[in-house]
Amino acid sequence: MEAKSKKEFKKICEYAVHYEFCYCYLCGLPILDGQKWNLDHVKPASKGGKTTPENLRPVHYNCNQAKADLSLTQFRAIQELKERHK
Ligand SMILES: [Zn+2]
Repeated sequence: MEAKSKKEFKKICEYAVHYEFCYCYLCGLPILDGQKWNLDHVKPASKGGKTTPENLRPVHYNCNQAKADLSLTQFRAIQELKERHK
């Protein structure tokens, strides 16, 4: 599927989420129907990342909030530490 705009991509994603094919780019868990989610820039917009489907990944709203300004590497390192302390 190809999306020409963020709106179109979101539509595709909503469709995918409905069928549970959409996975959170940050935590790797599926984004289920009814869960709040966002589109995250793989390369941050502040660093020249474009708002294209290739640079956007669906993420849980909560994961997106937790990530904030961290890089993906930093975020994953924190997630790993949390896992180990369960
Ligand atoms: Zn997530």
